[in-house]
Formats: sequence, structure tokens, C-alpha cells
Amino acid sequence: MGSRRQFIKQGTFVFFASQWPFMSYASSGKKTLGVALTGLGSYSTHQLGPSLKQTEHCELRGIITGSPGKIPGWQKEYGIADAHVYDYGQMDQLANDDGIDVVYVVLPNAMHAEYAVRAAEAGKHVWCEKPMALNVEQCERIIEACEKNGVSLSIGYRMQHEPNTRQLMKWAKEETFGPVQSAVAEAGFHFRGDDPSNWRLKKEMGGGALYDMGVYCINAARYATGKEPEGVEARVVNRRGELFTEVDETTEFTLYFKNDLRVSCTTSFGENLNRLEVQCRDGNYYLRPMQSYTGVQGGASDGTRLEPIKGKQQVLQMQDDARSIINNTPVMVPGEEGLKDIRIVEAIQKSVKLGSKYVQI
Ligand code: NDP
Repeated sequence: MGSRRQFIKQGTFVFFASQWPFMSYASSGKKTLGVALTGLGSYSTHQLGPSLKQTEHCELRGIITGSPGKIPGWQKEYGIADAHVYDYGQMDQLANDDGIDVVYVVLPNAMHAEYAVRAAEAGKHVWCEKPMALNVEQCERIIEACEKNGVSLSIGYRMQHEPNTRQLMKWAKEETFGPVQSAVAEAGFHFRGDDPSNWRLKKEMGGGALYDMGVYCINAARYATGKEPEGVEARVVNRRGELFTEVDETTEFTLYFKNDLRVSCTTSFGENLNRLEVQCRDGNYYLRPMQSYTGVQGGASDGTRLEPIKGKQQVLQMQDDARSIINNTPVMVPGEEGLKDIRIVEAIQKSVKLGSKYVQI
């Protein structure tokens, strides 16, 4: 007795290891990633920050902001050290900050590509909000930068982490109710528009309903059918023309798939829309609401009820993404998923331009 070698031989290594903080840490498989939020707007303030107080495997450790006035409040609320506070121009310095593992890009849509690429080039894992970027070229640039720098990339499609939504995805994949024949996906909210300078009204910032809410319909059309569309017809309807001078208030589009499957979609800044209904050969399933922060629920024609989950979707999302990084496993919503949707967005924009002509995807 006495030597470590003997303990190992006798199969009592676990006891011994627990005496060493390092071994104990490694064997429990736990590690916490430091996340830096980039852009301290509404979503960071009201959803992601509070969610990061509840997450296992990751915590809010840094901020990247263009508003010095926001810094003291965030530091106080989340105990963020001065060393982990950056403005946009200092992004490259993140390369020397070992406390930050992940940069979460929560900026206006037109800024996603630039800051996601800069985060990857600083060697940080990237979480990028939806829509991934404004066009296919930007999405590909993000994916390439992450691959080149050996970092992971997740798109902030929180619905794909939500258990009821995942049940629909399973029904689609397994064709539990037979092949899907048609579906309806609607996502929108009433944008008050009391500030005409808001970036959501600006074309160059990636404003408009399609980028903001339309990607929920597109993503849902794909995950609720388990199929990829081949073509689209689309039109824009702007009722408040004085407000929506540059971007779409409402876009209606039909996605066409193989075997006569169609998904009818409406996305809008003019009205509250929130449903996903899927008709299959032998039954149907639905979510209503389908993209709210809480209360997502639904059911199926066999009597299955999908009750609202307890807890926050953003917590599930960030835990899933952190776990993938820690365990070095594939992320649930990779860059390719954001790219596929943006390829469809481009086809929708083309169809609108051509007067609602059918455009191949
Ligand atoms: P906000 O307008 O509330 O915040 C955007 C923040 O970006 C600003 O507060 C500011 O932060 C920063 N920013 C930097 N440059 C500019 C600029 N030129 N104009 C405006 N803001 C700028 O937007 P949201 O938080 O609602 O949305 C941010 C992103 O998150 C979008 O991509 C959106 O699609 C996505 N989102 C996703 C949701 C989801 O459920 N997954 C829900 C809501 C939004 P600072 O002052 O710190 O520099």
C-alpha cells in the first residue's frame, strides 16, 4: 500500500483521483464556457442575458458594444470584468482573451457576416442570430471562416431546441402520419413603427419582415416536412406604404416541393401571426403558437397533446450549443441550416422582383 501505482492496480483510482481537483474536474466532464454577447439590444437584454444566468456549461463573461453608457449596468448585473469589455473596433483583441470561448452575434442582420467572421478569426466559437446573413455569399463566408479557424458555428434558431418543435421534426422524419401533403406556416408581429429610423425598416441593415420573421416560416416549412423546397412564388403587400418605403411589411410565398407538396407561408410586420399546420396522408399535426418565446404548444390527429414546456428556449439552445463545443460533437443547428434558408430568401426576393414568377431554388 502507499504508492499511487498500487491504488490504481487495486481499482481504487476513483478515490484517489477525487483528491486531485484537476482529475476530479476532468472526470466529471464539466466545464463552463465564457460567452461574450455582441450587441446589447432588446434580444440580448431581455432574453439572452437573463437566460445565461440559468445555463449550465456556459455563462455570460464578456460584452462587445458600441454604447459605452450600457457598460456599467451590464457589468453590475452580470459581474463582467473590465478585461472582458470591448467595443466593435476591438474585436480582434479577443484573440488574447482566454476567458471568452464563444462570441454570440446579436447585431442588426446586415452586421452578422462581418462580426461572425471577425469572431472566428479571433479564434472564438460563433453563435450567430437568425437570419444568418443577408445573402448566400455572406453565409458561405461565415462558414468558411469558422472552418478555417477550427471553431464551431451555430445559428440561433431557438425553435429547433424546443421539445414540441422537435416532436414535429420527428413526426416529419419518420412519416408517422404518412407523407406530408401540404402545410401552412405563418409568423409575424405588429411592428408599431413609431421610430422610422429603426434598422428593421432599413434595406441596407437587412430590415423587413422576410429576414426577421420569414425565416421562421422557411425553417418550419423545412423541419415540419423533413424536405427541401425546389421552387417558390412570392409577393409583397405593404399596407403602410408610408412606413415601409424600403422593405417588406408582408411577404406571402408558396414553397413547392417534390410530389406536389406545397407549403403556404405568410410573414408580416403588420399583424400577429403564429401557426404551423401540417396535413399528411393519414393525419395531421400542428403548433399554435409556433415561434413564441413561451407557450409553444400543439398536437396531432391521433389525440397527442403537446403541452407548453417549462423553462426558456434560449437556455436549452445555449446549453445544447455549449455541450457540443465541450464534447466536440456536431451542433444541432449548423451554418448550413442558416445558409439553406437564405438561399430560399434569395429566391423569394427574385420572385417578388419578377412579379411573383416561379423561381427555382
Ligand atoms: P435591437 O435593435 O434591439 O438591438 C441591436 C443592437 O445592435 C443595438 O442595441 C446595438 O447594441 C447594436 N448595434 C450596432 N450597430 C447598430 C446599428 N447601426 N443600428 C442599430 N443597432 C446597432 O435588435 P434585436 O436585439 O431585436 O435584434 C438583434 C438580432 O437578434 C437580429 O439579428 C434579430 O433578428 C435577432 N433576434 C432573434 C430573436 C430570436 O428569437 N432568435 C429575437 C429577437 C431578435 P449596442 O448598443 O450594444 O452597440
